[in-house]
Amino acid sequence: MEVKKFAGGDKKIEDYSEIIGKENIEKIKVKAEKLAGKSVSHVNSTAYGGGVAEILHNLIPLMRNLGIDAKWFVIEGSDEFFNVTKTFHNALQGNKELKLTQEMKDIYLRVNKKNAENLDLSQDFVIIHDPQPAALIDFYEKRVPWVWRCHIDLSDPNLEFWKFLRQFVERYDRYIFHMAEYVQNDLEGNRVVVMPPSIDPLSEKNFELSETEILKTLERFDIDPEKPIITQVSRFDPWKGIFDVIDVYRKVKEKIPDVQLLLVGVMAHDDPEGWVYFEKTLRKIGEDYDVHVLTNLIGVHAKEVNAFQRASDVVLQMSIREGFGLTVSEAMWKENPVIGRAVGGIRLQIVDGESGFLVKDVNEAVEKTLYLLKHPEIGKKMGEKAKERVKENFLITKHLERYLDLLNSLG
Ligand code: UDP
Repeated sequence: MEVKKFAGGDKKIEDYSEIIGKENIEKIKVKAEKLAGKSVSHVNSTAYGGGVAEILHNLIPLMRNLGIDAKWFVIEGSDEFFNVTKTFHNALQGNKELKLTQEMKDIYLRVNKKNAENLDLSQDFVIIHDPQPAALIDFYEKRVPWVWRCHIDLSDPNLEFWKFLRQFVERYDRYIFHMAEYVQNDLEGNRVVVMPPSIDPLSEKNFELSETEILKTLERFDIDPEKPIITQVSRFDPWKGIFDVIDVYRKVKEKIPDVQLLLVGVMAHDDPEGWVYFEKTLRKIGEDYDVHVLTNLIGVHAKEVNAFQRASDVVLQMSIREGFGLTVSEAMWKENPVIGRAVGGIRLQIVDGESGFLVKDVNEAVEKTLYLLKHPEIGKKMGEKAKERVKENFLITKHLERYLDLLNSLG
């Protein structure tokens, strides 16, 4: 089994000074000084698709630019393994029906062991992301600080699965959660770190685009710029509430017949369940040509997602559970009013009624969508507040600084 290594592209910390100011750049550089030359390995389970990969693509080059020898390894596994870890994911996000079998444990441990045999983690710091590679720690002689970063909504986990995972997690020196409410009370309190994720304002996903570029992208995918656009960007995953998004759109269409819906969805490599859900989504939509299903399979990549978000009048995030939801910050950064279900990380990002709306169900989402489509000036004001909120809290530079603080505290 081969273990991939990703160095990431080039980024310069100075390029961010226009956004966060020179003083903040200097502060970050000072924090990085003590870590210069130290090696940090990040390990996760996919190089593409989903929030973790998105963050690592942005974070690794910036760490490297600051003189830290940051590396990114992606574990390999069979479909069988990723089916098991997807079950872990579903159980940890609160599906209590699922049962953990001996066979699942065996597959999980076997793949972790195999990856450990191929992966040299003799670094100064090791940072493991999410449950998939969490058991790696069992197969190394631990000499340096190991950190486990959890990216999922752990507010109400299936305890059978959590107990199994905890035996690995508790061996780590620090455990990072996005929000305080995800912290499990059977973990050692002084090893807990709460740190929200972030978006990169200069990445292809988020950088400024000209009006012409946005229009060209819409044209390429046969979307009418003159008609209202509602959008949700998310993986094809039952937790993302895509069926609810379609229901919201249908009800809105009864009142505003020319409304269009963009369902932007990536197919991630570590998510076999995604294909099944993708097909179900297409069936639910049926023959409605105002619904555009826009995936990486037809050439929708970061820049196209950027254009769709910028072209939207309203952005929805109807997730049933959401660890954080980078898509929310991405849309807010582009001054969109976002309507999100009041769960997990969505609640952390949107200040209800100020920088978007938090809703509990489809009907409330319909009401707020109609309101925003009928009052674009209010949507615009909310959008400005939304951008401000992301700037203060959820940019990659803040995230990087929090990581530097953590590594300095461990070093
Ligand atoms: N994403 C994308 N194309 C898509 C769907 C998602 O590039 O079609 C990106 C999205 O822009 C975001 C990430 O994948 O950067 C999803 O992260 P999020 O935290 O919202 O959810 P996750 O997929 O990690 O559950």
